[in-house]
Amino acid sequence: MIPYSHQFIDSKDIEAVLKVLKSDWITQGPKISEFEKALGKYCGAKFAVVCSSGTSALHLAYLAAGLKKGDEIITTPNTFAATANMILAVGAKPIFCDIRLDTYNIDESQIEKLITNLPAGRQGKLKAIVPVHFAGHPCEMEKISKIAKKHKLLVIEDACHALGAKYKNSKIGSCRYCDMAVFSFHPVKSITAGEGGAILTNNEKFYKKLISLRSHGIHKDAQGKNVMEELGYNYRLTDIQAALGISQLKKLDGFIRQRHAAVNNYKKELAGVRSIILPQELKNIYSAWHIYVIRVKNPAQRDSLMQFLKNNGIGANFHYPAVYSHPYYQKIGYNNLKLANTERYQNSCITLPCFPALSRPEIKLVSNLIKEFFNK
Ligand SMILES: *Cc1c(COP(=O)(O)O)cnc(C)c1O
Repeated sequence: MIPYSHQFIDSKDIEAVLKVLKSDWITQGPKISEFEKALGKYCGAKFAVVCSSGTSALHLAYLAAGLKKGDEIITTPNTFAATANMILAVGAKPIFCDIRLDTYNIDESQIEKLITNLPAGRQGKLKAIVPVHFAGHPCEMEKISKIAKKHKLLVIEDACHALGAKYKNSKIGSCRYCDMAVFSFHPVKSITAGEGGAILTNNEKFYKKLISLRSHGIHKDAQGKNVMEELGYNYRLTDIQAALGISQLKKLDGFIRQRHAAVNNYKKELAGVRSIILPQELKNIYSAWHIYVIRVKNPAQRDSLMQFLKNNGIGANFHYPAVYSHPYYQKIGYNNLKLANTERYQNSCITLPCFPALSRPEIKLVSNLIKEFFNK
């Protein structure tokens, strides 16, 4: 079985974790600030806050941004549900904007229309845009940040796919075009901490709020007494996880280069297959290639190709069913929503295996199966 994704852990990672286990600190200790400093330095952002998952990082970012009941937030339907779920968790309402059919990212040209088409009363409720760098390919951030400035909206990047990616020579996570950027360290992401997440920002106010909310909203006063001043959570990362994250971060650039090599090999193998559309990397973009998604030109063949690959031991996958199509979202009022490009995309996409240690013969095997399927 070739999975669609797999972590890469070496003996240095294991040593780093063992060292923490033998130390005095296993929960939030010195490894946390070490990981945060390393992440901030890597991305080129002033502040980094690590936490228990990408999902808790999104929750913390939305809370720090002051998003609350009655607010509305523009995001993409082509993402993992957590992006929108955490908008609901703070009591706000996601507005789904359709996607582009070249990168499958939020279509920045439709954001402006979506805003101006809202009734005047709702325009005032709009507080933020949450773009997702789908599959590791950065969104058109310059344009998105321009629209946000014009309408006084915050921009929070769900960058869970895109650690290691670059947009116009600035690293994703530098927050050059956003207020905060969120990462995940789940095993399928660019690097892993087992579970884990991070928020990067250049804004000190957001930074302080994130630190407070991560740990119950409690801080020590001048007398050293614990005082709770706001409703917070336990979204802390452990030193055990942070040690793994620090060790993995050293390998990040190499991981992304390996992902690029895998993508180039797929491109060579699959170039002649007319029945599918290969993913692209636009100009001025360095993708993190979190996942490798092809599209089947005839959507009627999608499910049978997926089954054929699975029957042959290939962990083909589906990223993503549109968030609004999940039964929960259908129940809470999104049942009439059908965005044209999103529908076309989600009926034709297949995720092929793509991860750092994926070998050339494995890529050949997957590609040959695809050719065999279409030649039958
Ligand atoms: C993985 C992911 C998340 C959630 O991250 P976890 O660490 O699994 O909680 C959120 N958004 C996107 C786009 C993701 O891919």
